[in-house]
Amino acid sequence: MTLRVVKVGTSLLRQRQAATTANAIARLSCDLAESMARGDRVVLVSSGAVGLGCQRLGMAQRPLSLPGLQAAASVGQGYLMSLYEKEFSRHSIAVAQVLLTRSDLADRVSYHNASATLNQLLEWGVLPVVNGNDTVSSDELKFGDNDTLSALVAAAVKADELILLTDVDSLYSADPRSDINATPIKDVHGHEEIGDLEEGAGGGGRWGTGGMATKLAAARIATHSGIKVHLGDGRTSEALQDILRGGRGGTVFHPHPQPLGDRKSWLAHALQPSGTLRIDRGASRALTTKGASLLLVGITDVDGQFETNQAVLLVDEHGEEVARGLSTMSSEKLSDLLSLQSTEQTCTGGSPVVVHRDAMVLTMTTTRQQAIDHTCD
Ligand code: GLU
Repeated sequence: MTLRVVKVGTSLLRQRQAATTANAIARLSCDLAESMARGDRVVLVSSGAVGLGCQRLGMAQRPLSLPGLQAAASVGQGYLMSLYEKEFSRHSIAVAQVLLTRSDLADRVSYHNASATLNQLLEWGVLPVVNGNDTVSSDELKFGDNDTLSALVAAAVKADELILLTDVDSLYSADPRSDINATPIKDVHGHEEIGDLEEGAGGGGRWGTGGMATKLAAARIATHSGIKVHLGDGRTSEALQDILRGGRGGTVFHPHPQPLGDRKSWLAHALQPSGTLRIDRGASRALTTKGASLLLVGITDVDGQFETNQAVLLVDEHGEEVARGLSTMSSEKLSDLLSLQSTEQTCTGGSPVVVHRDAMVLTMTTTRQQAIDHTCD
């Protein structure tokens, strides 16, 4: 039994003359139902609410304002689900609507609740259809970011694979429409390689799809959590069917050899930090080479407002991210203690722990980590 999260975006579902949204959903439903009949489990992350809302309201183009997009999505979401309900009922599969936002997943309790609900649905043989909750959050609409959401969902259900369906057959070394030397990238191993591709994809996507940057961000999150990611061509059935039968997408992002556990994966990717702690060189080394906790004495500056147990970024003296984790004290208390520390009224006893290593995940790249290891030799 393989558990897969399949993400389908607006570009594949929007209405065209030859293939209506309903046709695209009918095709997708057959492929997914076939895989579920083989005993595999699927969570579908589907966009399409805004497009269908516009269609239902007779709008010739998408609204320009965010409230307009949010309102159109609220009209289209029910319509979208009615199409899935109709198609999957032909295969005797019940569907469930699951609307989530990134901030829902940033809260540990909501994250657990979402993951428990999804797991129960999967156990019942129901197909969860996840979309951003566009009424209350505009992030997914602003950034076209159901990609990130799908990776967080994949981590929350501990999926084996994440399939990102898109309107290209694979990643390319350059924009294949303008560069005849562009070659497909078949396999991507590790964060360094994803990082290099992200640099190339900056500014809206070197490959001209506009969505490659968020696909790479999703691949980073999922592979770090031990999940294999396929970038598959969603324009026809063949590519998806092949992946669902155990084949591969045009580009495969291989899982990290030492994936983060559930809590650390959540700390690293789902949490949205509310503040930043700048730490000195000694602290940076202790964290990265000795697996130490962050002590007050290693902090040089505090930025942002946060409460006890909220997430913070830890950055080194150059402002580069080293780790992220939960602070044992509020920003206010921390600032007070730091000013006492600078007037040397503390630190006679042991320095207090500000981010415990169990509530921290290192996020710096391997190259930078190696540079630090080297300077410690
Ligand atoms: N939630 C939006 C919709 O259903 C899409 C967001 C996205 O494409 O990432 O239209």
